[in-house]
Amino acid sequence: MDNQRYLLIEQYLCPECAGSGWITNLIWQRYWEEHPDGGLTDEEDDAWFREQGYTQRASEIPEELLCSECDGIGSIRREVELRKVLQTLELLPRPLADLIEE
Ligand SMILES: [Zn+2]
Repeated sequence: MDNQRYLLIEQYLCPECAGSGWITNLIWQRYWEEHPDGGLTDEEDDAWFREQGYTQRASEIPEELLCSECDGIGSIRREVELRKVLQTLELLPRPLADLIEE
């Protein structure tokens, strides 16, 4: 079985959303940067979003979006070759690692 591969599952906290599964909608981030105290009427809010190219009302635009990096799960899972894990952890003797290097 020369071409048999052993895989491990690597799981880590999503770096994009820090595990929450949600990210701040960038347009709302910009809104709060420009209006840190709020204080606009609903109509003024709608006008501001229209200026940014939005057709929906401000109240219809979500302030947070599902994280696209982890699909809202909060962590990333991926397959890693056992050989690479052993190399990373330096558990594979160097001559052997060189021997099986691709
Ligand atoms: Zn995420």
